[in-house]
Amino acid sequence: MTKYVYTFGNGQAEGGAGMKELLGGKGAGLAEMNRLGIPVPPGFTISTEVCSWHYAHERGFPEELEAQVKSALAGVEQQVGARFGDKNGLPLLFSVRSGARVSMPGMMDTVLNLGLNDSTVETLARHSGNPRFAWDSYRRFVQMYGDVVLGLKPESKTEVDPFEALLEKKKELRNVHLDTELSTDDLRELVSEFKAEIKSRKGAEFPEDPWAQLWGAVRAVFGSWQNHRAVTYRSLYAIPSEWGTAVTVQAMVFGNLGDDCATGVCFTRDPSTGERRFYGEYLRNAQGEDVVAGVRTPNPISKAGGADSLEDAMPVAYGELVEIYQRLERHFRDMQDIEFTIQKNKLWLLQTRTGKRTAKAMVRIGAEMVKEGLLSVEDAVLRMDPHKLDELLHPMLDPTADKQVIAKGLPASPGAAVGKVVFHADDAEQLAQKGEKVVLVRVETSPEDIHGMNAAQGILTARGGMTSHAAVVARGMGKCCVAGCSAITVDYNKQQFAVGNIVVKKGDVITLDGGKGEVILGAVPMTAPALDEDYRTLMGWVDSARKLRVRTNADTPTDARTARNYGAEGIGLCRTEHMFFAEDKILAVREMILAANEAERRRALDKILPMQRADFLGIFRAMDGLPVTIRLLDPPLHEFLPTEDAQIAVVARELKVTPDVVRARNVALHEANPMLGHRGCRLAITHPEIYETQVRAILEAACEAKRAGIAVHPEIMIPIVGHEKELSIMRALVERTAKGVLAREKTEVAYRIGTMIELPRACVTADKIAVHADFFSFGTNDLTQTTLGVSRDDAARFLGEYVKLGIYPTDPFVAIDREGMGQLVRVGVHKGRTTKPKLKIGICGEHGGEPSSVEFCHEEDFDYVSCSPFRVPIARLAAAQAALKATRALQAGSKGKP
Ligand code: ADP
Ligand code: MG
Ligand code: MG
Repeated sequence: MTKYVYTFGNGQAEGGAGMKELLGGKGAGLAEMNRLGIPVPPGFTISTEVCSWHYAHERGFPEELEAQVKSALAGVEQQVGARFGDKNGLPLLFSVRSGARVSMPGMMDTVLNLGLNDSTVETLARHSGNPRFAWDSYRRFVQMYGDVVLGLKPESKTEVDPFEALLEKKKELRNVHLDTELSTDDLRELVSEFKAEIKSRKGAEFPEDPWAQLWGAVRAVFGSWQNHRAVTYRSLYAIPSEWGTAVTVQAMVFGNLGDDCATGVCFTRDPSTGERRFYGEYLRNAQGEDVVAGVRTPNPISKAGGADSLEDAMPVAYGELVEIYQRLERHFRDMQDIEFTIQKNKLWLLQTRTGKRTAKAMVRIGAEMVKEGLLSVEDAVLRMDPHKLDELLHPMLDPTADKQVIAKGLPASPGAAVGKVVFHADDAEQLAQKGEKVVLVRVETSPEDIHGMNAAQGILTARGGMTSHAAVVARGMGKCCVAGCSAITVDYNKQQFAVGNIVVKKGDVITLDGGKGEVILGAVPMTAPALDEDYRTLMGWVDSARKLRVRTNADTPTDARTARNYGAEGIGLCRTEHMFFAEDKILAVREMILAANEAERRRALDKILPMQRADFLGIFRAMDGLPVTIRLLDPPLHEFLPTEDAQIAVVARELKVTPDVVRARNVALHEANPMLGHRGCRLAITHPEIYETQVRAILEAACEAKRAGIAVHPEIMIPIVGHEKELSIMRALVERTAKGVLAREKTEVAYRIGTMIELPRACVTADKIAVHADFFSFGTNDLTQTTLGVSRDDAARFLGEYVKLGIYPTDPFVAIDREGMGQLVRVGVHKGRTTKPKLKIGICGEHGGEPSSVEFCHEEDFDYVSCSPFRVPIARLAAAQAALKATRALQAGSKGKP
């Protein structure tokens, strides 16, 4: 019989921290805490296998499941000494919680207080001696069940939650502000109003039978794996849909039994800055969802966080919590995100998981945990998320700029955002798709807004604390967030918010400073980020761990300098054509292309020569001492042609022909499939003077640089080679031209000649091509196109669907398709090195900055990867991780041997 259900309780658990795949992060964390003897309410976890089964079998359940659940549930009854659905004694209530392998905060559903109905609510009231508490719990349960299981939700984006509307109405009627001020009778009325609302709008009867409630909730939690926000979240973080969620059913503990009760969320270190301090929020007399949903703005955990702290209010429970958080952090050797509830001064832990954090916090925590002896250097490097480093490199607000701060909220997630104000997630998404920068402003964000948060530059909320879902998700995304900014009044109907007499309307521009919690009117200018000491320490470890070199793709001296600051060790791809597009050059380039004969063409090229020479000189200067790979002209010529009448007229005048002649030549140069047309070295086979001019410019610049004391290492790269003879002809051309230049200049410059490998034919004949090459650089953008037969420019229409369906696990233009194109790369490397064992090999496609592709390059024994300047730190880290993983795998392998 397959085991589907894993129990935990009384210091024992069938699961543990290592079982996240089966139990989800939450289930595994609860089991592990149980084993550590930390107080956790007992319960059981239904495994992710059931989720897969459920979806594979038309949302059914395996036959054995019911019996396993029954027996686990009976075990909990015995431990707690209460029975589920008991109409006489104290009834046992459950929470039904979701939990995937990796945490997806708030994206899936949870139901609390399950097991209450019209008769158990009375026994609960009697046995607890607290009728208000019983009815408060029942009110919450009907609300959550109605929402999550029976699907009563707002029907439009302006409608407030129907349950919240009834609750508000009741508070208005009684003239109170907080739901804690409502009487037992009010709550009793609310329960029947809620049920009536469900009945009238959903046509469903609220189920009285606890067992039916349980299966309804289990079904809904599995169902929430496919809800809109969970699907969006998964696609944002590339989480496979096959993983599924587990469902944890756990005995309830109550934070809403009175003033000696509370519930809260805490982090073992500051998730925004990484500072080592206990950090969190709590609410007295409340249930857990109140804190994370951001409905009430909670109070700080520690005295250091401000007034009304838990430390002051419940010092004993606080002391226990401190002891436990320290143990948990030491045990997991990572920052933990902890949820707890205090029932009548007794502390219960409800969750521990690896806490989401900003990039800044990630780096600081890693660096400090090494210093504290909690982590080895290798573990610290391996634990960094390369994708996240990107966040650190984003611009920040210019500290010297003038700014009009109109309000201050909580600094929930650092960084800066400038954009037009919008009030709905859908609007944020739509405007962002049009290329607008937006700031999403909400009373509070819910997980439903995930797509809008993703599209926005930053998020501003009027309510909710630092541990609200909005704040947690924003930090995870590395998005700037100002939360709980109570000074603003948001009006969804008028699409505006107000602070005092300042009104900010939809479309107005504001700036957020997530590090200070400031809301600023208008756009504040940005500057380059400051990289701190922790970052440098960590990157030092990274650089000593990696074997791959990291170069950059840069076409201008500015890009080259930026990349160098980020640690680039050379240029792997300098595209000369980008220089051609510059306004001062394009006319000469057009003359060259449209020239009727060689003499005309040479005349145009003579104009281009000094401009290119100056470009290259600038790049050599910026890269003093480092290798610079320059690719000769690659794209089809028609890309440079004039299309507008005004441009055509200018070129015509310069060439002394009529505009119609220019138009006719335009037509003559048209190609049906330019991607596979007359481009790259094919152009130079027919018009060698173009490459001759470029080579001249490169070497003349190199000579000049050398005379100025700059160390130059030019590498001349020939694109789109498919046949060895193409390269042998090009090599002869380059050598001939270079010889002439160096003789004239009376200077010695060492240079290399190599080729891009970007056609399948080049891969499979790489042994022959290598005869004429000093280096190979895999151009994996074109190689992906030509291997898959998919044009990158046209792929947008269908590739997304391919990835959704799992045909390709990820976009092959983003991460190397190892099984397909990767095999051709492997053949190319192998054959190339068969001819020249020391052949230098690199990659210069977009993949060179993508972590899994960098790992592939490490495994295939490349010398370097090259990527855009801002991805250089990511590539460095990914290269270090690849090297460390490979070493660990090797060690594990040799240990396994007899
Ligand atoms: P999420 O993954 O969205 O954080 P959880 O499953 O952790 O969802 O549940 C949300 C909240 O419900 C928690 O913050 C916790 O405080 C509360 N909760 C969950 N289980 C229990 C329980 N057994 N007793 C009391 N409160 C609970
Ligand atoms: Mg939780
Ligand atoms: Mg190419």
